[in-house]
Amino acid sequence: MGEAADLDRDLWPMSQPLGSHHSVTEVLPQFLALLKKYDVPATYFIESWNLSVYPKAVQRIAAAGIEIAWHAYRHEAWSKLDTTAEQDNFTRSFDAMSEFTGGAKGTIGPYRGFRPPGGIIHGDRTLKLCREHGLGYISPSAEQGAVVKLDGGADSIAVLPFKWRTVDAYYYMDAFAGLRKTKGELPEEAQGPDVLARKYIEEIDNVIETGGYLSTLFHPFLTNTPERLQAMEQVLRHLVQRRDEGDVHFWKTGGIGDSIIRSDLGLGHESAGIVVKTGRNVRRLKIGDRVALECGIPCSKPTCEACRTGGYNGCPDIIFYSSPPIHGTLRRYHVHPEAWLHVLPDSISYEEGALLEPLSVALAGIERSGLRLGDPLVICGAGPIGMVSLLAAHAAGAAPIVITDLDENRLAMAKRLVPRVRTIQIQRDAHAKANAELIKGALGCEAKLVIECTGVESSIHTGIYASCFGGSVFVIGVGKDFQSIPFMHASFREIDIRFQFRYKETYPKAIMLISEGLIDLKPLVTHRFALEQGREAFEAASDPSAKAVKVQLLDE
Ligand code: NAD
Repeated sequence: MGEAADLDRDLWPMSQPLGSHHSVTEVLPQFLALLKKYDVPATYFIESWNLSVYPKAVQRIAAAGIEIAWHAYRHEAWSKLDTTAEQDNFTRSFDAMSEFTGGAKGTIGPYRGFRPPGGIIHGDRTLKLCREHGLGYISPSAEQGAVVKLDGGADSIAVLPFKWRTVDAYYYMDAFAGLRKTKGELPEEAQGPDVLARKYIEEIDNVIETGGYLSTLFHPFLTNTPERLQAMEQVLRHLVQRRDEGDVHFWKTGGIGDSIIRSDLGLGHESAGIVVKTGRNVRRLKIGDRVALECGIPCSKPTCEACRTGGYNGCPDIIFYSSPPIHGTLRRYHVHPEAWLHVLPDSISYEEGALLEPLSVALAGIERSGLRLGDPLVICGAGPIGMVSLLAAHAAGAAPIVITDLDENRLAMAKRLVPRVRTIQIQRDAHAKANAELIKGALGCEAKLVIECTGVESSIHTGIYASCFGGSVFVIGVGKDFQSIPFMHASFREIDIRFQFRYKETYPKAIMLISEGLIDLKPLVTHRFALEQGREAFEAASDPSAKAVKVQLLDE
């Protein structure tokens, strides 16, 4: 923050007054506005010297709900401090904070975390000092997070590391040419904001895919051009979008992109139930009918081209239950328009009725992908959508079929559903081409069609490499905003890449396929809870160790 990092290294011109650094006067307000816009909690690591030079800025940061943490007294290179200098730095910095707050515990102090300038600490010596000063976490340069035990296990501290790949200085600063060269991941010369945004987004996606911890760093003094600020916004937007792809994520994080839950919101859009009351104008349904709920309600106006021409899933005014601010259907009583209720025959249970929703996604995919009898097919991803796609493709006569996943349990479940399916466990660290070779080996040929049900970039690449000349990759999965593709490979092989957004006119077909016995959805339900156990149900759905496929709430 400010000029602290430059003062002791004689980089700050003596003629320049202190206290009006552009990073504080110009960039900080833009940072705060961006974090507010995307509703992202953040930590601002400050040098304690700033408490007396920029007190108002510190107060503004705290008032914006951003944690204030510690970054040495005046950005001293931590690895160079001897025992005394290190202790002095702690004392001076923490005294400055108590003076600032008058010793009171509040939104500004005391500090809870420390990021050592340069990222290198003095092992246990530093960790012990951190604990003596009440710090709960430290953020040095490292790849993995950990809780480190101290005093023979009597105490501990959290290590929330940063990787150079998600530090802006690593891209932008000429002074980091040596580090770029040593690491060999980037050219030696400084890089532009486009490279930073791409790499940060890759790291975010990786950590979401593999689990773990990631910190992404932006320095206001380096975010000093509109392009760099835009790159930061691109990363924030992506981060927020990835917070959700479904009700579990809504539940865990409270929003996605602009769809932020600001007040109570009911979840749920895979539902079935019984009609207990009808409105004045209801003609077709009667009390006691068992129904499945189609949860996207388009405007149905003749002036709406999507609705008028039969593509109602493209209606710009569609409301979708469970997308804020519209409450979802996970409730005992729900009012639903008659036209979007589908009567269930007695042979179809409510459990299956609820699963007509994911089946609808798969049926829309099968129809639009143009799958034909005897087509060699690959399904990427054996989550619920991949599995219902497998059931539908099996019924539609695709042969042979390969299904992929990272998780062997999911592949085992796919095999139980459709014993003739051939399974490939994707190797996370292998190149997409190598995974494609495994798939082609199992298929015995190249794929005519790939139905992609993960939305993960590397999996889409694998699908493209597994396709035959003139084949197609049909992407049902949704993923990050911008993705690269093996463009020339797809171009030279005339591989079509197409996409799916929800579904239209699929419920009647889905009901028919189940009642005629062509598709059995029942094995997909692995966990059941009562409506009152909603919390436990969401915990099971979001805990990988529970090995859940579909978790249902029943209110019978
Ligand atoms: P899920 O997250 O439960 O399942 C995804 C599966 O993909 C998991 O089993 C995971 O292990 C696997 N996977 C992850 N990376 C992989 C890789 N590199 N290779 C192979 N497998 C990999 O999700 P789901 O409910 O099955 O939904 C699948 C996708 O479809 C999601 O992206 C979801 O948002 C999307 N979706 C799209 C629509 C639409 O209208 N297009 C509708 C519903 C869901």
